Amino acid sequence: MTVKALVGARVIDGTGRDPIDDAVVLIDGERIDAVFRRGDMELPAGAEVVDTGGATVIPGLVDCHVHVGVLADNSFLQVDDPGALADQFMTTLLHRGVTTVRDTGNFDPDQVFRTFKKGRADWPRFFGAGTILDGPADPPAPWRWLAIIDDEASARREAARLVEAGMDFLKVYVWARLPVLRAVVSEAHRRGVRVAAHVGHAVTVEEAVKVGVDALEHVRVGRELVPEDLRSELDALPGRILDPLVGFQAWRFIDPESDLADRLIALMAERGTFITPTLTLSQSILAGNTPAGSCPEGLDEMPEAVTDQWRQYAYPFDYSETDWEQAPVELRNQMAFIGRAQQGGVKVTAGTDLTNPFVVPGHSMHEELRLLVEGCGFTPMEAIVAATGRAAELLGRQEDLGTVEKRKLADLVVLDGDPLADIGNTRRITAVYKGGRAVG
Ligand SMILES: [Zn+2]
Repeated sequence: MTVKALVGARVIDGTGRDPIDDAVVLIDGERIDAVFRRGDMELPAGAEVVDTGGATVIPGLVDCHVHVGVLADNSFLQVDDPGALADQFMTTLLHRGVTTVRDTGNFDPDQVFRTFKKGRADWPRFFGAGTILDGPADPPAPWRWLAIIDDEASARREAARLVEAGMDFLKVYVWARLPVLRAVVSEAHRRGVRVAAHVGHAVTVEEAVKVGVDALEHVRVGRELVPEDLRSELDALPGRILDPLVGFQAWRFIDPESDLADRLIALMAERGTFITPTLTLSQSILAGNTPAGSCPEGLDEMPEAVTDQWRQYAYPFDYSETDWEQAPVELRNQMAFIGRAQQGGVKVTAGTDLTNPFVVPGHSMHEELRLLVEGCGFTPMEAIVAATGRAAELLGRQEDLGTVEKRKLADLVVLDGDPLADIGNTRRITAVYKGGRAVG
C-alpha cells in the first residue's frame, strides 16, 4: 500500500498542544506514520502527495452522545425504511467530520448493536452501551429500550449480561436508585467496563460521582446547587412531564459561580469524572424545539417523516409563560457552569444527543463546538480537544483514536479555514479520512 502524505496544512493534533504549521501527515495504510513540519524529514520515496496547503487538519470528531442504534428498528422515529434512515444518519455524520460515535443506549443489544458495531466503510466507528439500565418510574418512562431494575442482585446480573454481550460501556438512567447504580458501577468496574449515567432525578450528580460513575450525561446538576432559601420556590413550581429527564427549572435559581457550584466542580475534577453536557439538546428544547431556535443547518437534508416527528415530539409542550421567560437564563447558566467546570479541570466532552428533535446528524456536532466556545467560554482549542483527544479518553481508546499522532488511526478532517481563529470553520470541510481512506 502506498504511503499518503498530506502536505502543507496547519495541524491541530487534538492533544491541546500548539498547532504545527506547514505540516506533513504521513499515512501508511489505516494509521498515521508520522507528523512533522515540512523539511524536518524526507518524504518516503513513492509517497502519494496530497496538497493541503492553506488548509487545517484536525482529528476526526467524536460525537460522545448519540442514539443512532434506535434508528434501525423504529424504536424512536417511525419510518417506512428504518435501515435506510440509519444509513442516512450514519453517512451524514461521517461526511460532516464525525468519524466516531458513542451510542448511549438503544433497544436490542444483540441485533441492532452488532449492525452498528460491524458498521460500514462510510459510517463512523461505533461504541455503544446497548440496553439502558433504569429503575421503576411512575408513570413509566417513555422509551421502551430500558431494563427496569430495582434490586442489587438484578443490577449485577444485567450489568454482567451486557458486558458479556460485548457492550463498550454501560448506561444508567434517571429512575435508577442509588443502590442499583452502585451495584452496576461495582460489577462493571470489576469487569473493566465504564459506566455512564444520566442522573439528576432519583440520584444526584454528587451521589453518582461519589459511587464512582465514570461519565455524566447532560447537565443534570440541579436542585443541590440551588441556594437553600430558594429551594422551596423551586419545589413549588408546577412540574412538567419531562422534568425528571432534563430538570432545567433549577437553572433559573443557580449561580454558576457560587461556592456550591465550585465544590461540586472540585469533586468532579478530583474524581476524574467526564461530563458530556449535550448543549445542542438543551438549546433545542429551551428554544422551543423550533428549527429557527436550535440548529437549522442540514435540516433540509432530513426526510419529512423525521422533521414531522421532531415537531410532534417537541418536549416543551407544557411550558408556561414564565418557563419561556426563564428558558434563556436556564441555558445561559448551564453553559456558564460547564465553562467553569472546564476551568476547574473537569473532563468535558462534546456530544449532541442525536436523534432528539432538531439535533441534526453531524451538523449539530459543529453547533455543539460553537456552544462550547461562544456559550461556555472555551477557547477553540479546548473545544476541539473536548471533541477529539478527550473524547477518545472517555471511550478508553486513546491508543487508537482522537489525535493526529504517530500510530493512531488516520481519522482526519481537512478544513478550508482555521477553527482556532473562528470555531465556525469546523463546518468548512473539504475532506474526511477514516482509517486513511478518503470518504467519498
Ligand atoms: Zn441521550
